[in-house]
Amino acid sequence: MTDEQLSRLPARDLLAWALETYRERFAIVSAFQPEGMVLVDMAMKLSPQARIVTVDTGRLPQATYDMMDTVRAHYGAAVEVLLPDTGEVERMVSRHGVNLFRAAPPLRKLCCEIRKVRPLGRGLATVDAWASGLRRGQSAERAGTPVIDRSSGPQLKLNPLAAWTQEEVDAYVTAHAVPTHALLRAGYATVGCEPCSRAIASGEDARAGRWWWEQDGGKECGIHVSPTGKMRRTLDVLLDEILH
Ligand code: SF4
Repeated sequence: MTDEQLSRLPARDLLAWALETYRERFAIVSAFQPEGMVLVDMAMKLSPQARIVTVDTGRLPQATYDMMDTVRAHYGAAVEVLLPDTGEVERMVSRHGVNLFRAAPPLRKLCCEIRKVRPLGRGLATVDAWASGLRRGQSAERAGTPVIDRSSGPQLKLNPLAAWTQEEVDAYVTAHAVPTHALLRAGYATVGCEPCSRAIASGEDARAGRWWWEQDGGKECGIHVSPTGKMRRTLDVLLDEILH
């Protein structure tokens, strides 16, 4: 099938194609948000052996660890947990402090790079294709999300829910009794690391609860939307100091 044909498949059919095509070289990458859980639910029903991968940054809220156990119990799934490199974290926090993310957007990006982006990159080396729960409606940065993405790295990235609305996600979760993250029931719109996520007020943007103290960093960790321009150059200098 061409990418255009794949892009038109319903989410479940696209996952079925990926599972059949790539088998153990395909994984769902999820932080257990509703979108990721929709993919987990679909994949588990298509193939109980489907791989589910997540990143444990070391700064997650307890409710996210509880979600990992819930997914294991509910689906009988083995959740593959990727951890940051110990030496990289040690050098980063020794140099910049454990709460470096509060100091400046480039240091926040550095923390995300060390604790999220690089561990996921190592994990993705074991697959040829992966799926994320990105939706175009989640933010301006994600408005151009393609269903089939061959430009984000050596692996094929699928965004089966790219065109879904929040209402469609909610309807699927309800109809299929998909397990949900406890903090989503406490006013969070999305949940990342504990110090970098908060509940949002009524009417606030869904991404407003992430890195809420930042004015110019972009509400992204770097996994889906990489820094560009001056931010990229500054981040690369900071990274170089940690890695070499
Ligand atoms: S979300 Fe916060 S604590 Fe987590 S990796 Fe990014 S900056 Fe670090």
